[in-house]
Amino acid sequence: MSNIAAAIITIGDELLIGQTIDTNSAWIAQRLNAMGIDVLRRVAVGDDRSAIVNAIDHELADASLLIITGGLGPTSDDITKPLLNEYFGGKMVVDAQVLEHLKVLFSRRNRPFLERNMKQAEVPDCCKVLFNSMGTAPGMWFDKDDKVIISLPGVPFEMVSIMEKEALPRLQQRFISDALLHRTIITAGEGESFIAEKIADLEAALPAHIRLAYLPGAGMVKLRLTGRGPDTVSLTRELEAQQNKFAERLEKIVLALEDLTLEQILCRWFTENNQTLGLAESCTGGNIAHHITQVPGSSVYFKGSMVCYQNEIKETVLGVRRETLGEFGAISEQVATEMAEGALKTLASDFAFSVTGLLSPLDEATVPVGRVWMTVAGKGRLTTREFNFPYDRERNKDMATSMGMLMIWKFVHSLT
Ligand code: AMP
Ligand code: MG
Repeated sequence: MSNIAAAIITIGDELLIGQTIDTNSAWIAQRLNAMGIDVLRRVAVGDDRSAIVNAIDHELADASLLIITGGLGPTSDDITKPLLNEYFGGKMVVDAQVLEHLKVLFSRRNRPFLERNMKQAEVPDCCKVLFNSMGTAPGMWFDKDDKVIISLPGVPFEMVSIMEKEALPRLQQRFISDALLHRTIITAGEGESFIAEKIADLEAALPAHIRLAYLPGAGMVKLRLTGRGPDTVSLTRELEAQQNKFAERLEKIVLALEDLTLEQILCRWFTENNQTLGLAESCTGGNIAHHITQVPGSSVYFKGSMVCYQNEIKETVLGVRRETLGEFGAISEQVATEMAEGALKTLASDFAFSVTGLLSPLDEATVPVGRVWMTVAGKGRLTTREFNFPYDRERNKDMATSMGMLMIWKFVHSLT
């Protein structure tokens, strides 16, 4: 799709010993990919002069865009800036805007501006400065024989800020003449291979300038159509026509035709339909409430979550009967049902959802690890489902969270 090849070099000893996980190159790769630039390689090297120079030589042999992060700090192990200055045959000069910014930063932090801090305002005269509003080390943009080399600080939020404000808009201008547009179809309830079977002919019939990507998540598969073309208006029309074709084919499993999270989809449905939701969470420990409240405006429809972990609290707070707990155990259809009914009553919501499950081995447990029961109730209806998640505690909790929100969506959706 694109004939621009990019490479990413991340610099830092901490990356090589695994102390810091290299999230920078993953983030950069995603952003480049989204604008139609393919990443050839991602390489990590230590704070070592010859390793860095070798990596740059090697990557520039194949890539026309090279993005480097790390090694720009003020300490002696940070050698990227003077190294690049030498590599591109420049000379270090003080950048007035960076100097001004540094002085403001230092005075705001009540720190004296020392002579050695002047070094932080120096940049090679052969680069364009990519201003760093979030920190002290400026980013740098070098042009060399039709190739572009960008150097950014290793601190992730500084790197992200410079990329978004300075580098990505310039890269778009420099490398991308066509418009690049996306359309999304979010599906739930079927796996990638089922979907691939179902839409094989539509996928095969896509024109060369429209590409389909499968982005699977917990319980959901996102389909992303990416189109590229000189004319935004006709490309939009074409993409939307394709999006409709795929959506019609996948009909029942389509959740949304926008790039939304499950919690955003729920927020939209509940507010648009003027309905409220309450939760009774046991094994998810409030995680579903956390997700739901990540969305601005969720207070309009979300009444709250009762996190009832111990049996005693399920009884006293939710009104689950002691006999039910005794006879069927906490992780059962009956307890999930009574939890949802309790939440419906106590929280006085239109709909209530409950979840109870076993996420780690427990001596006296009578159910297998990963067994989770969920109930959705409201408007005189009630659905209960059993899940058996096969992963570790953390992932099982995530799965229960996603599948729970999905179950709420399916339940309320069948009413509209
Ligand atoms: P530096 O620009 O080399 O001084 O990096 C500053 C800090 O940013 C390091 O101590 C790391 O904690 C973090 N860092 C550096 N490189 C990366 C990377 N590739 N991914 C995530 N964090 C990083
Ligand atoms: Mg470093």
